[in-house]
Amino acid sequence: MVFFNRVTKIYEKTETKALNNVSFYIDEGEFVFIIGTSGAGKSTLTKLMLCEEKPTEGEIIIDNIEISGLKHRQIPYYRRRLGMVFQDFRLLNDKNVFDNVAYAMQIDNYTTKEIRRVVPNVLSMVGLSHKAKAMPYELSGGEQQRVALARAMVNEPSILIADEPTGNLDPATADEIMQILEDINKRGTTVIVVTHATDIVNKMKKRVIELDSGTMVRDETGGVYSNDC
Ligand code: ADP
Repeated sequence: MVFFNRVTKIYEKTETKALNNVSFYIDEGEFVFIIGTSGAGKSTLTKLMLCEEKPTEGEIIIDNIEISGLKHRQIPYYRRRLGMVFQDFRLLNDKNVFDNVAYAMQIDNYTTKEIRRVVPNVLSMVGLSHKAKAMPYELSGGEQQRVALARAMVNEPSILIADEPTGNLDPATADEIMQILEDINKRGTTVIVVTHATDIVNKMKKRVIELDSGTMVRDETGGVYSNDC
């Protein structure tokens, strides 16, 4: 679960109110879009969830943890509950697909035995078993994003956050990635997609939380991107 309770974020230096009294509750197993134009506060909201920034006011509770109360050394452990994918995939270009996923597990001190068991599972989940030995530059954009999704799932996160996951992909490939996100969600992971891709949001008819200049202007179940389409 993700609970924002009257969260305000002010960047002191520029005196920008990036989020203004934002409240919402995302239950376990939900699929939610966070939308809004540039400057709306989407990245700030993501950074708050990742504990990269602290709220100026209000509380953020994720999986029953009040995250602004976390100590510095607790933050890496907390982050393992979250899977994260980005628009630009962020793969290691000198490692093949298997090793890109395995590397994430090595950092977290998994054993070789666990790595050999989990990596094929997550690659199969994203339909990439046959590309385990391929290098990132041998993959299409959609395949690279699948690797990133596999990597995000190694810890079996309770929440997967996808920041503009289809921003670099053509529409057909974007649909495939959204399908995988939906499959991951059906297996029980809460999925939060931050985007301004209107067509995808409209098509998927999921819950939509919309920000505008830091204020939450919509929280709609099965919503579409804007009222005029
Ligand atoms: P979005 O991701 O929706 O484009 P952001 O969360 O990046 O929106 O930005 C929201 C507002 O906060 C903008 O006015 C932006 O300029 C400001 N902002 C974002 N990050 C910082 C920062 N580190 N320091 C100062 N202002 C920031």
